[in-house]
Amino acid sequence: MGKFRFTALLVLAWLAIGQPARALPANQDKSGALTKQQSLSTRVVAYKLEAKLDVAKKTITASEILTYHNLTGQPQQTFPFHLYLNAFQPHSTFAEEAEREDSSFEWTPEKHGSITVERIVVAGMGDLTGRMQFVQPDDDNAADHTVMQVTLPEPVPPGADVQFTVTFVDKLPQVVARTGYLRDFFMVGQWFPKVGVWWKGAWNCHQFHFNTEFFADFGTFDAKLTVPKNEIVGAVGDVVSTVGNTDGTKTVEFRAEDVHDFAWTASPSFQVVEDSWTGGAGPVKIRMLISPGSVSSSARYLTALKGSLRHFDAWIGPYPYNQITLVDPPHGGLMAGGMEYPTLFTADTFWYMPKGVLLPEIVVAHEFGHEYFYGMVATNEFEEAWLDEGITSYMEAKVMDALYGKEQSILNFRFATLGELEDHRVGLLSSGYLHSTDTDPLSRPGWRFFDDTAYGSVNYGKPVLMLATLEKIIGEETMRRALHTYFLRYRFTHPTREDFLKTVEEVSGHDLRWYFSQAVYGTNILDYRILDARSDPLSSSDGGKKDSTGGRQLFRTFVAVQRKGDFVFPVDLKVTFSDGSIAMEHWDGQDRWIRYQYDRPAELVSAEIDPEHKVLLDVNLYNNSYMVPEDRQAIQKISNIWTFVTEWLGQLLAWLT
Ligand SMILES: [Zn+2]
Repeated sequence: MGKFRFTALLVLAWLAIGQPARALPANQDKSGALTKQQSLSTRVVAYKLEAKLDVAKKTITASEILTYHNLTGQPQQTFPFHLYLNAFQPHSTFAEEAEREDSSFEWTPEKHGSITVERIVVAGMGDLTGRMQFVQPDDDNAADHTVMQVTLPEPVPPGADVQFTVTFVDKLPQVVARTGYLRDFFMVGQWFPKVGVWWKGAWNCHQFHFNTEFFADFGTFDAKLTVPKNEIVGAVGDVVSTVGNTDGTKTVEFRAEDVHDFAWTASPSFQVVEDSWTGGAGPVKIRMLISPGSVSSSARYLTALKGSLRHFDAWIGPYPYNQITLVDPPHGGLMAGGMEYPTLFTADTFWYMPKGVLLPEIVVAHEFGHEYFYGMVATNEFEEAWLDEGITSYMEAKVMDALYGKEQSILNFRFATLGELEDHRVGLLSSGYLHSTDTDPLSRPGWRFFDDTAYGSVNYGKPVLMLATLEKIIGEETMRRALHTYFLRYRFTHPTREDFLKTVEEVSGHDLRWYFSQAVYGTNILDYRILDARSDPLSSSDGGKKDSTGGRQLFRTFVAVQRKGDFVFPVDLKVTFSDGSIAMEHWDGQDRWIRYQYDRPAELVSAEIDPEHKVLLDVNLYNNSYMVPEDRQAIQKISNIWTFVTEWLGQLLAWLT
């Protein structure tokens, strides 16, 4: 998902117009090459879905045959299922959390959505509808019906299959949380009963929270979608067939393999733009479903998508699916935009999007990135959201910087520019690090964050800067190799944060626990400042000591650096003197402060902590440098007016929202 700040965007648009090796999966050889004939994942689930959309009533009547392959290594008798659409009901956990965020939040009837399971039959065990019960593993909120479980009369032995046949009815909400309808547009996500994941020796099937996403097992999805004849349909996977029916509808069949979710979209108003791209795993069909009014953005989408495909293929690994589908929601449908599903994602733009606001490109780079970190490397989004959002946002920044230039990859106007890293820091368009620096660690489950702002800041902005700082520690090339290794090793599995962190340590050959324990597991503030900086003539009886060679006046200079926060990080210090000489210092940062003393025939001009800007997690950059006030040149060198403006604006927006 993208965490974008549309209020900030509208202001800007207005401004612009005004002015250790695991066993490799069977399908992978040691070089990481994939063969399309073999399955890419260990297939736990096989879903056969049939759905009929009623465009007038905004309902879907559907059935599902789920074959679950018990690879848990033990007998299983109780199976939990996600019923995500029930989040859109008054008093659900999602609704309660939304209201806690914003007391003016109104759960108006058009936002109501639901999924009603009418019947559940288990092959060989009969109708078990009466055995369904709602459970609330996270918060005991009895009004929350987003997780259902059913206990079978007898257990399913390890290695055996069990087949569930479920009939259900969806009532779609007007788009909320990336799902629902808007006028003639339907974005149908999280719409079918989805079995939980057996993970770490237990069922993992969390309730749907205001700030959480999803987690599911890999397998196959066959879906027959029946819609009015005039609808243009897009979905996860590939089209198998389209058959006209006698009642004015048609049935479009899709098949997706080695994915863990199935979502689809339909609208009679889409304009279809098709293209293709060839990468390391062969040709990829590009299908873009563009809403009226966004046609001018489609060329921008396509350039960003091909650029993202290219960079991910080169840096991370091959995109192994046949197709990628981009869905552009209609105007007013921003709530449906910026969302990822396997092989399909939703984009974002709006009318008269100025070229200088790179939102369409950012969303494409971000959501396409999720095809890797979510789609293939399928981490637990409920419990470790930063592993997909943070790594994806970091890759979004790398791709955007490579495609559009480091300094202008977010905004590119004559009067102002803004780059990805700076935006992930201040959060002008995205959820910036500075919005919430010390409430929650990266390692916290998604629903336990202090609030929505903290969730966004800690799962998007902070990991971008955490990873960018890590890149400075181990080097850009090593960082790239670490991500590439992580991807190849864990694609089509459910790795944890320790799998990621250990891979980085292994590839880099560094023990990075000192960093991870603070940046990933901790909430300590990182802030270094110049505590003292001054020069005085060295006194002697005749009014000042002279140096022995040139007879020049000697000055004694003191520069003290303080570690204001509890985050310990080694820092460099650059001290510049009036004769152009420079002293470079390196401090381990362990103590609270350190003082340097220089006796030189020159006065202090400036002192700057971290002159190469490696420590991107430092929360306050203003206090990192000191300049002798009259030295205008040095001021211009070190400070940057736009940095100032964006930091200030970021703080203001953080305060406003
Ligand atoms: Zn995202």
